[in-house]
Amino acid sequence: TVRVRFAPSPTGYLHIGGARTALYSYLFAKANGGKYILRIEDTDLERSKREYEEAQIADLKWMGIEHDEGPDKGGDFGPYRQSERLQIYKDIAWDFVKRGLAYPCFLTSIELERLTEKATSENKDPHAYHGQFRDLDPAQAQKRIDAGEEYVIRFKNPGKTWEFTDLVKGHVKFPENMVGDFVILRANGMPVYNFCCVVDDAKMEMTHVFRAEEHLNNTCRQLMIYDAMGVTPPRFGHVSLLIGHDRQKLSKRHGATSVTQYKDQGYLPAALANYLCLLGWSHPDETDIFDVNELGDKFGYERFSKSSAMYDIAKLNFFNEQWLRKLDDKDIAAGFDRFIPEGSEYHNQDEAWKVKFAGLMKEKIQLFSHINEHLPIFFDAAVDADDQYNEAMGWETTPQIKEYLKAQLADQTTNVTEEQVGEWMNYLKKELKIKGKPLFMGTRVCLTGRAHGPDLKTVVALTPIKIIKERLA
Ligand code: GLU
Repeated sequence: TVRVRFAPSPTGYLHIGGARTALYSYLFAKANGGKYILRIEDTDLERSKREYEEAQIADLKWMGIEHDEGPDKGGDFGPYRQSERLQIYKDIAWDFVKRGLAYPCFLTSIELERLTEKATSENKDPHAYHGQFRDLDPAQAQKRIDAGEEYVIRFKNPGKTWEFTDLVKGHVKFPENMVGDFVILRANGMPVYNFCCVVDDAKMEMTHVFRAEEHLNNTCRQLMIYDAMGVTPPRFGHVSLLIGHDRQKLSKRHGATSVTQYKDQGYLPAALANYLCLLGWSHPDETDIFDVNELGDKFGYERFSKSSAMYDIAKLNFFNEQWLRKLDDKDIAAGFDRFIPEGSEYHNQDEAWKVKFAGLMKEKIQLFSHINEHLPIFFDAAVDADDQYNEAMGWETTPQIKEYLKAQLADQTTNVTEEQVGEWMNYLKKELKIKGKPLFMGTRVCLTGRAHGPDLKTVVALTPIKIIKERLA
């Protein structure tokens, strides 16, 4: 069976690039009736935090990306946190040593620095001299270890050419001496990423690995480890880079980059998933707006794009707008409840009002928070006097309309109804002979205080009578 993992480091909140990788991995597993696994790569003990792990899991769930196996769920291939698998890495590293595939190295960091400098100054690969201890007699090495000397375990680069076929990038061939003898176990006993990642992907029986393009060069070292373990590597797919408008790698400079920020700003998870899915992949039916959970076997690596994908908030907002329109008016109202600041008149309205308001306004916004720009027409008696407003106020019929409406509402204490607005218009047309633009625009400016806005009858019916009266005063 297909097994695909997402392997975040819990050193911060879930990045949108990470969310995209997770989504691809999840969708690929689902498309193939496989399993999607969450593995926590927390070997950087200083920077890894359990609260980040929890936040990342919560954000993945929020986006609908639910793992089948993981640290919070268990599974047959656990534990799923690397910090709980240290013995496994140690055993394999020492097995490599026994088999002559790796060796203890006693270079101090100062010596190492010197050797790197030397190699660089001679125009050699920076790792050229890192293999100093590769031929040290094992008994000698053991003596030094027993004496308490600090050491790392280095992998003996067999000096071959490594190549593989990437599911996104196509055939990749690494130059022969791209890496030297590289560390797999640090002096503090912690494994390095390129080693424990492979150990886990092998032991957890991953069949496919999707990850960011920046890991492509790591694959060279990883192929060596698979080879040493005698395990066939999974198929790799290195998905294209996410870039900002300046074509630079996406970073905080470009705006919100964590899923948590989008969640807090009220973006809909389905919209974010939909948008991220299309950053580096395209739908076979060429559609843009779709539910990622309904992709089924339409999702496959054939449609990954090789080139970088530009992250564009305006486009994400467009997707959010499309998804907002699919919501029930009730859910829209619940969104408004969250994003309209406390103290607004909005919060004094009843449920029926809110639902009707939501129905009227949902096509006017891209984000819940945008509703705040539209509140003055309902709750602020002040007029918005643009040129069109002033023009309409200047027509000779407008004061007539205003006087008439004022008289009609003199004794009214409840909100205007839509029928009332209809009756007024009929009267103005029949009895005062006001028609066309002077009628519609004239009535609008008198009642709403602006030349533009949503459906007049509905707006007026939703505006507190007190505000309408103030405008007519
Ligand atoms: N922990 C690595 C990262 O967050 C995982 C990379 C991989 O998928 O192999 O970048």
